Amino acid sequence: MPISITPPSQLNADLHCHSVVSDGTLTPEALAQRASANGVQLWALTDHDEIGGQHRARAAAHANGMDYLTGTEISVTFADNTVHIVGLGFDPDDEQLAQGLALTRGGRGARAREISRQLEEAGIHDAYEGALKYVGNPELISRTHFARHLVEIGACRDTSEVFRRFLTEGHPGFVPHQWASLSSAVHWIREAGGMAVIAHPARYRFTANEEFALFSEFRKHGGEGVEVVTGSHTPSEYGTYADMAREFGLAASRGSDFHSPQESHTDLGALPPLPQGLTPVWELLGHRIQRRAAAA
Ligand code: AMP
Ligand code: MN
Ligand code: MN
Ligand code: MN
Repeated sequence: MPISITPPSQLNADLHCHSVVSDGTLTPEALAQRASANGVQLWALTDHDEIGGQHRARAAAHANGMDYLTGTEISVTFADNTVHIVGLGFDPDDEQLAQGLALTRGGRGARAREISRQLEEAGIHDAYEGALKYVGNPELISRTHFARHLVEIGACRDTSEVFRRFLTEGHPGFVPHQWASLSSAVHWIREAGGMAVIAHPARYRFTANEEFALFSEFRKHGGEGVEVVTGSHTPSEYGTYADMAREFGLAASRGSDFHSPQESHTDLGALPPLPQGLTPVWELLGHRIQRRAAAA
């Protein structure tokens, strides 16, 4: 029988999604099953500021016939904005990374109380308790959990409407927060043997100068990748960030950013391939991929 080998650029890799360990609604096991059913061959679970689901995710990936890369998505403050840095292929038992993430998560409880206080002033009562009902990990209460509660009580039709009317700058429930620094996030990931990747760059409201500064400083600190094809980008943004990847000499990543069957419009694995002429991050991370056992 001829052996078919998928060229690296055509591999169905999904290297960005969330479980109940952060603000997704599915368990790592249910995500792995869904990813595999959708044809994903290489998978990474990238919970916000958390690596508590990594061992489960790897076992579930292998049980479903997928190769696995460890993952996380670190919240960073850069130029007074929140930026997300994905880490891939690190050692999930690295102490410095675990401590850095614990520190990054640390302020979420007090922030959530303040979000709730602001919502109270806007006439929405007991939002903290409401949001908690959706929280799978007590250390990881996020705006997404508030958004689900606001939909449940009928304050908004869906979570997109919540983020237009609440929880974002200029609206009730927006609490500015100091996350990790860019240099720390990249450093923790690298020291743990992984690769740092700028998540969904088109989502940030940066001027051209600020964006240039982000990419330059990220590079300077040892960042190596950028998400080009993501559920958070439009097709024309794939082209924009393919050009940025080439300009800055960064490898390209691909990931759905799937959170929930009810909320996410891009399903696991349901993305176009990377544009031609880019180096996929998984080509550089070959030695960090935890491979499923070869079929007998
Ligand atoms: P936090 O880390 O608590 O600031 O929450 C950030 C999370 O909120 C993101 O990871 C998304 O899951 C969600 N989010 C932010 N903006 C939007 C939006 N416009 N629509 C839907 N979800 C959003
Ligand atoms: Mn999220
Ligand atoms: Mn993100
Ligand atoms: Mn994400």
